[in-house]
Amino acid sequence: MGKKYILDTSVFLSGKSFPLDNEIIIPESVLEELKNIEKYSILIERSKIIQPSELSLKIAIEAAEKTGDINKLSKTDLDIIALSQEFDAVVITDDYAIQNVLKFLKKPYSGMAIKEIKQNFKWVYRCTGCKIYFEKYYESCPVCGSPLKLVKKKL
Ligand SMILES: [Zn+2]
Repeated sequence: MGKKYILDTSVFLSGKSFPLDNEIIIPESVLEELKNIEKYSILIERSKIIQPSELSLKIAIEAAEKTGDINKLSKTDLDIIALSQEFDAVVITDDYAIQNVLKFLKKPYSGMAIKEIKQNFKWVYRCTGCKIYFEKYYESCPVCGSPLKLVKKKL
């Protein structure tokens, strides 16, 4: 079962990819901030482009005023915070002001590092000699006797 994410513009610019079963939600203002839409077309085609309601936007603005972040937030930032009111989704952003308001609103968020976690890989042991992968640790490679190393393997 995939997760839902609301992305801010910087996540697009980072060029990171998301597993296909993840649902991606963005406000239209993110598209306005991307200079070269073509470059991001694969991610954009996968995204649901949704405008937050007036009410959600009002909640976002009021919360940002209370936390003192209102002057640090762009229209896009406020749209992202507003969308967090409408979906059971995690907001991905490295913007401290957005994170601060989300925290105030008790909405889940994560920095971009989550994409590293979200990429499908697992930790395995790999022989430094014959390069064979092993699920479990051996003192030395059962095939060639070289030492093993813990590595990330893409699935
Ligand atoms: Zn080996």
